[in-house]
Amino acid sequence: MTGKTMIVGIDLGTTNSLVAVWKDGGPRLVPNPLGSFLTPSCVGFDADGHVLVGEAARERLQTHPHLTAALFKRYMGSTRTMRLGDRDFRPEELSALVLRALKADAEAFLGEEVTEAIITVPAYFSDAQRKATRVSGELAGLKVERLLNEPTAAALAYGIHEAQRETQFLVFDLGGGTFDVSILEMFEGVMEVRASAGDNMLGGEDFAVLIADLAFANGIPEAARSDAGFMQRLAARAETAKRQLGATGKTSFEVSWQNDQAVIELDAAAFEKLAEPLLNRLWRPIERALRDARIRAADLDNVVLAGGATRMPMVRSLATRMFGRFPAVGLNPDEVVALGAAVQAGLKMKDKALDETVMTDVCPYTLGTEIVRTLDKNVAMEGYYAPIIERNTVVPVSRVQRFFPVHAEQREILIAVYQGESRMVRDNIRLGEVKAPIEPGPAHAGGVDVRFTYDVNGLLEVEVTVVATNETRRLVIESGQAHMSAAEIARRLEALSALKIHPRDTLENRTLLARAERLYEQLLGTPRDHVGQMILRFEQLLATQDARLIARDAAQFRDALKAIEAEGHFTPDYAD
Ligand code: AMP
Repeated sequence: MTGKTMIVGIDLGTTNSLVAVWKDGGPRLVPNPLGSFLTPSCVGFDADGHVLVGEAARERLQTHPHLTAALFKRYMGSTRTMRLGDRDFRPEELSALVLRALKADAEAFLGEEVTEAIITVPAYFSDAQRKATRVSGELAGLKVERLLNEPTAAALAYGIHEAQRETQFLVFDLGGGTFDVSILEMFEGVMEVRASAGDNMLGGEDFAVLIADLAFANGIPEAARSDAGFMQRLAARAETAKRQLGATGKTSFEVSWQNDQAVIELDAAAFEKLAEPLLNRLWRPIERALRDARIRAADLDNVVLAGGATRMPMVRSLATRMFGRFPAVGLNPDEVVALGAAVQAGLKMKDKALDETVMTDVCPYTLGTEIVRTLDKNVAMEGYYAPIIERNTVVPVSRVQRFFPVHAEQREILIAVYQGESRMVRDNIRLGEVKAPIEPGPAHAGGVDVRFTYDVNGLLEVEVTVVATNETRRLVIESGQAHMSAAEIARRLEALSALKIHPRDTLENRTLLARAERLYEQLLGTPRDHVGQMILRFEQLLATQDARLIARDAAQFRDALKAIEAEGHFTPDYAD
């Protein structure tokens, strides 16, 4: 024990979270019990009511959707709850369970108790979202005196705070599903977020989707899209291919579905060509952030890359071309935020924490409506989300978009209002609806203009104007009171403390079982039976509690599962 309170740095992410500590004069990432620095931000319950956090829960998202939750960071600061089994959880509580797991990992790593944390939040997080993040820390038994903006953390990881003069720089953060650009300025020891812009429908996953889609252009029929097991295997293949392209400049793989096959071969140049539309979308938020901050690209002192997708060479070279200089590299971009949080923790332990100004006068969520998409052969698909006001827009703001009826004989148009970042409306929060009467006629003629106006008090006004008649309909939505009272926090803390948590050393085995169960659901026939036998054998072994035997078998079990995942079918090296 050092005698001084141990503070850890935590990157509480939408898909993954990381914890890092200041140790031996530098920031160090802390591995979880599976040996990984990245812990999926997923929480679930198993059959006997134990909490599962991280990889094990992520594996169970598909097999046990009613007992598992993910992406809850998107709902922080809102009143939306997620149901797990027979209980509703607030996003603060689910985040708290992730934080608790990270706290336990850090304690195991350091051999001492951890009571305080610096937690990072996106620069555009509103006041309500920041409060919710603090409450999460409290619910996890962590004092959170300070939150740290993610771009500031990325800058700290690169030691920008050590600069002796005023510096201006840009943080280019391309994660799995979102692109965030922030312009920061450090002046007299205070970091200020000058502007932030982004595209919350653009991330590394979109690049993998491009590769996966090649399967359908090369022999796999469209019908395979409704086979969830196939789609997941294909997505995993595409993800591997994407990383391989970055590492070696080429990739090839085969996929089959029923009697159809596709061979996909791709090199870096062809991938870049394919990804051109995505790469082009990186420009807009950057131009906007520069304009908002009134800074020219040439005046930036530095460009910092964050987010796993900036590992892609084409993204790096684009960033280099955009700014006419090499961005700061050297650290793993998916780790910089956690490392920076640990730097701030280290500074705080020496009472030298960096001060920041916080930006909260932005619309914290994307607001939009539901649309119908017409795919090839005129198949209409319902339930798509059309953003109208993008998250992170400075308020007050008013935006208008025109929508058209789906059928010529339609007499009414319904505008359903949603808040959230997901592609499908069912994954977003429904806030209300407005109906407007329209004249039947050719669908393209009788549109409506939908205006969303969002003000500083979180009041959203939706105005629907029928283009042909100028008739209008209005709806006003007040943002819900999301704050939790001290009494409620205490009550929830007690309830959370009563939850049963698997001991850290059994987590690896739980994760293996969860992964095997997912494969069991995806496979059919003999391979499925084999996976079933493997699960049974491993469960029986766990019951013996013989640690040595379990460890040996776990390794074989893991290899067998890996082979099945890679091949898409069973290879019989386990469970005989
Ligand atoms: P993050 O949200 O920062 O964890 O970023 C996750 C995204 O980074 C995912 O879309 C990953 O596919 C992507 N990513 C991680 N490592 C690599 C890599 N080596 N090459 C390409 N993309 C990567």
